[in-house]
Amino acid sequence: MKFDKKVFLADVERVLHADYACDLKSAGRKELYNAVSKAVMEETFDDWNRARKSHRRRCGYFSAEFLMGRAIYSNLLNLGILEEAGEALRSVGEDINQFEEVEDAALGNGGLGRLAACYLDAAASQNIALDGYGIRYRYGLFRQTFENGFQHEEGDDWLRWGDPWSVRVERDTVLVKFADQTVRAVPYDMPVFGYKNGVVNTLRLWQSEPVQAFDFSAFNEMKGEVKANENFNATKITDVLYPNDNTMVGKILRLRQQYFMVSASLQDIVGKYKAAGKDLRTLPEKWCFQLNDTHPVIAIPELLRILRSEGLTFEEAFGVCAACFNFTNHTIMAEALEKWDALALSDLLPDVYEQIVACQQKLQSEGVDTNALYIIRDNVVHMANLAIYVASHVNGVAEIHTNILKTQTFRSWYERYPEKFVNITNGITPRRWMLLNNPEMARLIDGKIGTHWHTHLPELKKIMPFIDELLPAFKRIKQQNKQKLADHIRAHEGIDLAPDFIFDVQVKRLHEYKRQMLNALSVLWYYFGIKDGDITDFPPTAFIFGAKAAPGYYMAKAIIKFINEVAALVNGDPAVAGKMKVVFVQNYNVSYAEKIVCAADISEQISMAGMEASGTSNMKFMLGGTVTLGTLDGANVEICEEAGRENNYIFGATVEEVAAVKQYYCPREIIEQNPRLKRALETLVDGTLSDDSGMLRKLYESMTSGYEPDRYLVLYDFADYIRAKTQLLYDFGTREFDRKCLVNMASVGKFSADRSVCEYAKRIWNL
Ligand SMILES: *Cc1c(COP(=O)(O)O)cnc(C)c1O
Repeated sequence: MKFDKKVFLADVERVLHADYACDLKSAGRKELYNAVSKAVMEETFDDWNRARKSHRRRCGYFSAEFLMGRAIYSNLLNLGILEEAGEALRSVGEDINQFEEVEDAALGNGGLGRLAACYLDAAASQNIALDGYGIRYRYGLFRQTFENGFQHEEGDDWLRWGDPWSVRVERDTVLVKFADQTVRAVPYDMPVFGYKNGVVNTLRLWQSEPVQAFDFSAFNEMKGEVKANENFNATKITDVLYPNDNTMVGKILRLRQQYFMVSASLQDIVGKYKAAGKDLRTLPEKWCFQLNDTHPVIAIPELLRILRSEGLTFEEAFGVCAACFNFTNHTIMAEALEKWDALALSDLLPDVYEQIVACQQKLQSEGVDTNALYIIRDNVVHMANLAIYVASHVNGVAEIHTNILKTQTFRSWYERYPEKFVNITNGITPRRWMLLNNPEMARLIDGKIGTHWHTHLPELKKIMPFIDELLPAFKRIKQQNKQKLADHIRAHEGIDLAPDFIFDVQVKRLHEYKRQMLNALSVLWYYFGIKDGDITDFPPTAFIFGAKAAPGYYMAKAIIKFINEVAALVNGDPAVAGKMKVVFVQNYNVSYAEKIVCAADISEQISMAGMEASGTSNMKFMLGGTVTLGTLDGANVEICEEAGRENNYIFGATVEEVAAVKQYYCPREIIEQNPRLKRALETLVDGTLSDDSGMLRKLYESMTSGYEPDRYLVLYDFADYIRAKTQLLYDFGTREFDRKCLVNMASVGKFSADRSVCEYAKRIWNL
């Protein structure tokens, strides 16, 4: 985008006048943020409008979550005016960094939602016609604080700062009907700017509202209570994001949300197609849809319903759906694969349920083994199975994950429809995760190989011949990033971190399978080793954690309490003051991640093998020039293929070993054989750590007793983890180690979201 400072400042001033009755001199931070954003929206309107009117075939990315983070800097960066806008603001005495106070748009939980956001950025940057469709939650993922070491949740009022990057498109309002209520769905459109290419795609988020405005005459006749209540229920649908990551919540409100969003999107799309005079049988000529996990799978029977109501036969409608829909699976965990009670579903959405039954009957009529292949069984609707049956492509998100889908999770389906299954390994956008959050590193690389890598990440390989030459500057920039993170952590957490410590980082949602527990136990293991004098030359290390636990996930909250108690113990002990520090940052989100991933020395990716479908923070760290301490799980496997296993620190049971070990596993023996591990574990119950909630005891019990003690093999993998981690800590600072960091950065090309979306476009969407 061309930037004219005078025009820009005049635009800003005009918005300030019109919307806030103030000017540049008197504007507050919030007014200025809105005015700057709206000024940019105004200047890009023509490009956006042209794109919206284009007749290209498009893909709709249906996702219940878009974890966008902060929009303003990323938008200015992609438009190529970040520096210019900063300079223009400086010329009127304003600092562009003041917008760091603006709330993240956290309309997602973690990796799945962040993936959707990265794909929107990448598709626009690669000129792929991909539009996001989702929900405009009034409250996003809760804001987390710690009180006495326990997680505390507060509502995320992300609209407090306004929403200048969205426009309400009232004219595209549709009605969404449930058996017991009808609501209006009003779209808010957000432009998605490609990186310096003039492309603008759209993220359309639907908001639920009551059908008729508040009825005053009824109110006056004392029926007001009833009416007000109806309004309340309508808005309630999109009130709040369910804060569960990788677990299914069988709440009817959740089903309402899912149906609300896909019904609105499909009515909008089909309605416009029909209004253009087209035959709905040809819909796939213009549209396809990617279902991001099972949350939007109810779109399949909804499209069937719409098409049949428009006069298509079931077979015709089924054919359209088969040609339009594709499905991405994100997890193999049974507790995350969505299943709905058939009665509840048919009560809420009778006409939609009818279509699911028709699919089940069609499947049965094909003479399949109904013990292996079914959509409805024992009055439960299996959404993943419905998606696999109808969709033309089913994809996993890393090689190892797709192989597990084929051989285990969906084995029978794979045997019947092998051609449907494809792998598309996840990716991240190098714009936000390098150009934006690590600009000096980007400049360093630009200076060596030019800027083509910004949109063609494999070109980073070209720095390989210059690694030794680049190392001093690389280390200096990493050191600066560590200093900045330390400053941020001091300001926000009140903890002092020395930037010359090793920064050992594990940031991601809190989940037992992700094994923050393994990391925390290792911290205690080193701590006791130092205290006892068994470990004498420990390299000073800061153990940095960031994670939110689903509010209803007891064990995850217990692990947070545990880590916070370990932090209090370690940080309060002068005997280890120069050697260890433990920080659990509060409210880990995209903006925090931007500061953390470019400042890390170690990327902990330590899930039990087979459990992490891909992971994407592993890729962000790699791009930042960080070695992985990890298991052979998810995309870690491919990271090792790309960067060389010898340049990372791999430990632990493989998928095959996990399966074998689980046959006989009993952790007792392991605990007895490792006295220091035993001591670390027993801090949970021996009074070393304070907890009168009983949580830590429950955590201890989950590790040592019950039906399936230590379900995620924390204790089984502990010794090998300590081996790899200790090796890493002692390698740190050597020339060989520094080279590993840069080799990882140079090898990250495959993990660009640009590669991922181009693969989707070619192999699945045919765009
Ligand atoms: C990238 C990202 C994630 C995903 O992290 P994983 O370690 O891959 O699970 C989660 N939350 C935020 C804020 C992220 O930026």
